[in-house]
Amino acid sequence: MVIKLSTWSASYSSIPPWDVGHPQQAFVKLVEHGELIPSRVLDIGSGPGENTIFLAEQGFSAVGIDFTPEAVEIARDRAAQHEVDAEFVQGNVLDLERFFEANSFDYVIDSGLFHSIRSEDLDQFVRQVRHVLRPGGVYYMLCFSDKEPPGFGPRRVSKEKIRKTLEPGFRIDYIHDTIFESRIHQGGARAYLTRAKTHQTRE
Ligand code: SAH
Repeated sequence: MVIKLSTWSASYSSIPPWDVGHPQQAFVKLVEHGELIPSRVLDIGSGPGENTIFLAEQGFSAVGIDFTPEAVEIARDRAAQHEVDAEFVQGNVLDLERFFEANSFDYVIDSGLFHSIRSEDLDQFVRQVRHVLRPGGVYYMLCFSDKEPPGFGPRRVSKEKIRKTLEPGFRIDYIHDTIFESRIHQGGARAYLTRAKTHQTRE
């Protein structure tokens, strides 16, 4: 019998391009600059867990969620190696409300997930992220930008697409140029870091 792995599972049978073995610089800088302050954070599409583990080490109450069992296993192993208290849940981010209560998190971080969510799922995705964030909570999203030349890798995302997708559920504070570190893109891929805040009160 041939067991067909999902594409995501298959990508974890070797070291995937996004597994750089350390947290993404864009998130490290947010902590170093005091923009991300220890509190409750959910890392959606947490993959090998480097960003979640880093935040837990910095004193955050950090939870990662990923639907690929191989990724969750890798992340749990790494958290154990780091002897850090980071929790990893196996589940679909399109169904966050199944796993987490409303208003459970101060921050949601997304390192390379948004650019992989199918267009037809984006509205649901945004609703789910908003659901788990408290009013005034912040979503930090790192995705490939349209400044990265076409080619291998995920969808390139324009600022216009980010705005159209996240508003009106969020107020966008900024969309900054940055890089997404990768094992195969020399010097990293051109990326955008978006900071988007939920409204203070629920409509
Ligand atoms: N954030 C990690 C991994 C990025 S790769 C990092 O920066 O290293 C994207 C990850 O999102 C993969 O591990 C994939 O399994 C996961 N993923 C994709 N779609 C998902 C979904 N709908 N629900 C949960 N996880 C998802």
